[in-house]
Order: sequence, then structure tokens, then C-alpha cells
Amino acid sequence: MTGLPFPSVRAATRAPEGTVGLPDQLGRVARDLRVSVTDRCNLRCRYCMPAEGLPWLAKPDMLTDDELVRVIGVFVGLGVHQIRLTGGEPMLRRSLVDVVRRVAALEPRPRIAMTTNGIGLDRLAQPLADAGLDRVNVSLDTIDPQEFADLTRRDRLHDVELGLKAASAAGLTPVKVNAVAMRGINDHSVADLLQWCLDRGYELRFIEQMPLDAQHGWDASTMISSEEIRDRLAERFTLTPLPAADRGSAPAELFLVDGGPVTVGIIASVTAPFCAACDRTRLTADGQVRNCLFSQKETDLLGPMREGASDEQLAALIQGEMWRKAPGHGIGTADFVQPDRPMSAIGG
Ligand code: SAM
Repeated sequence: MTGLPFPSVRAATRAPEGTVGLPDQLGRVARDLRVSVTDRCNLRCRYCMPAEGLPWLAKPDMLTDDELVRVIGVFVGLGVHQIRLTGGEPMLRRSLVDVVRRVAALEPRPRIAMTTNGIGLDRLAQPLADAGLDRVNVSLDTIDPQEFADLTRRDRLHDVELGLKAASAAGLTPVKVNAVAMRGINDHSVADLLQWCLDRGYELRFIEQMPLDAQHGWDASTMISSEEIRDRLAERFTLTPLPAADRGSAPAELFLVDGGPVTVGIIASVTAPFCAACDRTRLTADGQVRNCLFSQKETDLLGPMREGASDEQLAALIQGEMWRKAPGHGIGTADFVQPDRPMSAIGG
């Protein structure tokens, strides 16, 4: 793979000639692609977005369905075997069911998962499952209606509950629930959320709040740490840690709840990052490849594609981006700088 004659290529990093798959210089290999299909969202979670929302991407600046499926196909050709559709809120992309159907037709067929806030999933769970979606993670931070409205700035808890039920009924299992705890909003009700998930057969995972909010309001001193979540859960449940060896590249530390077999996960993305085992790569809705949530640079695919790049040339750009992946995200170090793009525009 030689010349990259595309003026829109911002980061002209190259992987060594003959590189196979998506390795980086430290020996990690990316196999899990997170695809943001839109930057828009219908919630305004405080740890993510300001109340008034954000300036959304204009449609011409976003990958079309054909471009999106083509790029995902290039990633699959590079050894990616898990695709996670996210956003923004992925179900706000009208063509989502069709995109899933087309991704499921790629060879070799990747596993397809989606991270969603669940609003509208009551209607879409079955069509998405029929199209080839394998699993969902539904983000739900509290089951207290007032806390939900405070945290998301929307009164939609009931819709999320309906979405979760529909996901189970459609066989999008195991249905996982992702939660972020915020001090003074939902930190006191984490055990209630776990009990609620246990009662319904949903697998709960907490994740530490990261500095990826558009408002740049994250504060290490007020963040609820994984240790604090664990302590709060332990007030009501007996938690037995599973051996770290069972974890692989999965970021969550898993605990048996009251002797098991059900587990709860806690992802210490800030206080004990899993960067050394990270196998993720990311594609934004406007066609930028990112090797990390926190990277300061990204590699443009949209421009080259529209200028006529071949699949081999796109693959070389993707490999170059992954090759220079940093050892870690660096949160807490003196030179850490929060990326310009917020979580909603990267894809969580
Ligand atoms: N709208 C979808 C949803 O709600 O799941 C997908 C996008 S959302 C950005 C993906 C995940 O990122 C959600 O579980 C959300 O809670 C999480 N998230 C957003 N901002 C975060 C932050 N600053 N720290 C940790 N997690 C965050």
C-alpha cells in the first residue's frame, strides 16, 4: 500500500509495509469497532451534554449508509469481529435497521451489538433483532423517576423500561444495563438499581464518569469512584470478585452477587484503566477513525472516500491510525488534555 494522495488526510501516520490486521506499536490488536451512527441524542444527561444540546453534524458531513457499510466492511476485512453501534442515540438514525441488515451480511459476519438509551426500543427491538442485531446495552442510571428526570433532563424513564422489556422479548440477550453514578443525583440509589436489574434478569455494569462531557465540567474530586460504588452495593449485597483472568479484554471487574450466579460489573475507567488490554477502535458519524476515546488526533476517511480512495487505501489509513495508539488515556497526568469531541460525538 503506497501513496495516499488525498489532501483531506489530516494524520499521515503509516503502519509498516505489510501490516496485517489492526495492531499498534505496543502489540495490542483492535478487533472491536465502535461506530457512532449519529451525534444527535434525545436525552441530555448531565455527564454528557448541556441542557440546550450541541451543534449537530450537518447531513452532508456524515457518512451515508453506503459509505458507512463500506467502511465497516473494510474494518471487518482487517480482522474486526465485533461491531457496536452507538452515538449520540443510534436509534435516531432512521435507516438503522437497514444498516444492521447490511452489516450482518458482511463476510465473515461480525457480531453486532448496540448501546442505546432504550427510548424507542419497544418499537425497534424486534425489527433490529430480525435484521441481525445480536445484543444491546441499555444505558439507565437510576430507576427513581425524579432522579432520572434530574439526570437526563427528560421524563422518559417509562420508555426506557418498555425498551428493556422489548429487548428481552426479542432475544437481544443478555440484556445489559450501563450506569454512571453522579454525586448528589443518583449515587444513593445504586443498590436499588442493582436489585431492580436482578429482579428482571438484566446484567448491570457501572462505569466511572469520564472527562468527556461537552461542558468540560468533569471533576476528579467529585467523581464517584469504582471503590465507592462497590462500598455502596456492599451495604446491601455480598460481592465476591471474580478472578481478573476471567476478564480478558473486557473492561468490567465482575463480582458475584450474593454467591452468584448473577454478576455485577464495575468499570474503573478512570481509577484503574484497562488501556493495556484495550482492543477497541472507533468510527465517528462523520467518518473519522479514532484509536482511543481520548485521542487528540483522528484520521479522516470521509474525504478520501469521496475523492475516490480504494478499499486498500482506506485500510492503510485505518492501520496508520491504530498503529500510533498511545499506551494509555493519561487521565490524572499533568499533561492530560480532554479531547475536543465530547462522548456524544465520538460514540460511547
Ligand atoms: N445514547 C446511547 C446511550 O445512551 O447508551 C449511546 C451513546 S452514550 C454516549 C454511550 C454511553 O456513554 C452511555 O452508557 C453513557 O452513560 C456513557 N457516557 C456518556 N458520557 C459519559 C461520561 N462522561 N463518562 C462515562 N460514561 C459516559
